Amino acid sequence: MSLSKNKTCWPGLIQAYKPWLPVTEKTPIITLHEGATPLIPARSISNQIGRNISVYLKYDGLNPTGSFKDRGMTMAISKAKEQGCEAVICASTGNTSASAAAYAKRAGMRAFVLIPDGYVAQGKLAQAFVYGAEVLAIKGNFDEALKIVQEISNKYPVNLVNSVNPFRLQGQKTAAFEIIENLGNAPDFLCIPMGNAGNITAYWMGFNEYLKAKKSNKLPKMMGFQASGSAPLVNNKKIENPETIATAIRIGNPVNWDNALKVKKESNGLFKDVSDKEIIEAYKLLGKEEGIFCEPASAASVAGLLKIKEEIPENSNVVCVLTGNGLKDPDCAIKNNEAIFHQGLSAELETIAKKMGF
Ligand SMILES: *Cc1c(COP(=O)(O)O)cnc(C)c1O
Repeated sequence: MSLSKNKTCWPGLIQAYKPWLPVTEKTPIITLHEGATPLIPARSISNQIGRNISVYLKYDGLNPTGSFKDRGMTMAISKAKEQGCEAVICASTGNTSASAAAYAKRAGMRAFVLIPDGYVAQGKLAQAFVYGAEVLAIKGNFDEALKIVQEISNKYPVNLVNSVNPFRLQGQKTAAFEIIENLGNAPDFLCIPMGNAGNITAYWMGFNEYLKAKKSNKLPKMMGFQASGSAPLVNNKKIENPETIATAIRIGNPVNWDNALKVKKESNGLFKDVSDKEIIEAYKLLGKEEGIFCEPASAASVAGLLKIKEEIPENSNVVCVLTGNGLKDPDCAIKNNEAIFHQGLSAELETIAKKMGF
């Protein structure tokens, strides 16, 4: 059987949603078979909120490189390949660089990634290394890195794959399609973390396109959440030195600022900030009670929902987007837990049984 004719396997989102995407027969499809991530009912969180509110988790941390960035990157790299590019560049808090590197390498391109030195989670840095990216760590934050890569891509033959790249959002909108296909309609509310606010913009695009095509008959209210130390969209003010444990959303000057405000207005939605403490509480709750390990930035969606739960009418359904996989940030997991962990035990049945309380 030829490599491209495996019909039993999910083909990846470009193949699956071709009519909805700006691709042609000439576009080489660079895919790791991303997309088709599960929508998981969150029974414990639903019970905690009560009033017959159903909460679902769109677990996009199950994409090939462990974050939703793959949805955009399959598009951005396929289009870059179509245009004959030989190298791509991005600024990243970690997940974009992991994804850009993986897809660029699959396409036979060089991948340059600019990251804020010391502020990228271990797992993400490991991925950039393994995928063969050329990593440039700067003494500066994401916003400064983005400025540099924008200038470099204007001056030199490298293609920019940050979310200013319009193909990224096109790929990312497919997550909204999947949610509608899973629920049979759009949800009443979508809770989502915001960094550059590309993803909230992409979801809104997806929900609107499916509404127009009569694949759903309503639009969700879009609820965007930011970390308190990094909440420019909530406070409507740029932040010079954003700080949060949720490094994936440690962004002080979001690229999609105007788009995000438009989404909030059009959807009759709401933006709110959540503290690092609230983020970590939601992060632990997801692990312990739902069996789902996401990264801290992703837990901001659930932290946000728990914060505004009184504003959700009874009988509503809510989707929280879990943007990235918990394995990306093992340091955070190890620092923030109440795990039962007995160390240095002698290898004897009796000792072990005693520790177990028998
Ligand atoms: C990129 C990212 C975000 C933020 O998405 P934006 O499109 O920048 O708003 C949130 N969570 C994770 C895990 C991310 O990688």
